[in-house]
Amino acid sequence: MSHKAGFVSIIGKPNVGKSTLMNALIGEKLSIITPKAQTTRHRILGIVNEENYQIVFSDTPGIIKPKYQLQDSMMSSVNGALSDADLILFVTDIHEGHDENDVLEKIEKTTIPIIVLINKIDTATQQDVEEKTAYWTEKLNPKHVFAISALHEYNLSGIMDTVLNFLPEHPAYYDKEDLTDRNQRFFVSEIIREKIFNNYQKEIPYSTEVVVTSFKEEEKMTRISAEIIVERDSQKNILIGKGGSMLKKVGTEARKDIEKFLDQKVFLETFVKVLPDWRSKKNYLKSFGYEN
Ligand code: GDP
Ligand code: MG
Repeated sequence: MSHKAGFVSIIGKPNVGKSTLMNALIGEKLSIITPKAQTTRHRILGIVNEENYQIVFSDTPGIIKPKYQLQDSMMSSVNGALSDADLILFVTDIHEGHDENDVLEKIEKTTIPIIVLINKIDTATQQDVEEKTAYWTEKLNPKHVFAISALHEYNLSGIMDTVLNFLPEHPAYYDKEDLTDRNQRFFVSEIIREKIFNNYQKEIPYSTEVVVTSFKEEEKMTRISAEIIVERDSQKNILIGKGGSMLKKVGTEARKDIEKFLDQKVFLETFVKVLPDWRSKKNYLKSFGYEN
């Protein structure tokens, strides 16, 4: 029996809905989603397995001009996702002005087939949709343009059919039971980071990293310890909040989602630690699993 398999990379500017889209396509909440830009920092695989195909989606960080070492690493993970893709899903927000230059630089000259996904059309008019469809058809000569709402899972079934058309005949790349290449610890740290992005303002989310330091599966529950790393003492104080109130809120929200994700009771404890300027230090970044 014939079998198809391939890599499909989801790319675009920050905050256009890439992670929401990947989760919707694979039918699992793998990637974290927040209203803030630059939530996603790694390439994260989401794998769809059926008897006669395997689609390996890559969610990627939003494309920007890097300003510090962490962002350099984020952009090299985008380049990685582009270099091995069989197909590119370029996601754009229907309300974006045509200023995707940093993205276009990367994909305009590629020979990899491109599908344009105009997202968030739940917030737009039919006329907006027609205008943007015409614009992107002209600009990128894509194989297809879909106007979608990732959030409301509107018009996504056509994407899956088209993706399958572009997948080569190939044996599976990953075990057919696998849903992703990342382990549970990774997703636990991501869930905690999501709560930090949602609960703090300004530079706090961007200055924060989360490391799971212990993960013990017991018969009736999983015990997890995590370090929340910030760059300065002042950030540590804000993170903890008056009498520990903010950290407690983050911990409770995270624990509830981790319980859903692991489908088990969880005991979560968090510690805040200061590592000055970790975002600009290669050795720290490497130890946190950032490439390059
Ligand atoms: P990413 O940075 O490209 O991965 O974007 P996210 O998936 O994290 O989404 C960014 C924000 O856009 C979140 O607040 C999402 O809820 C929102 N969003 C994503 N898709 C849609 C959509 O189809 N419609 C609307 N209205 N909002 C969306
Ligand atoms: Mg994202």
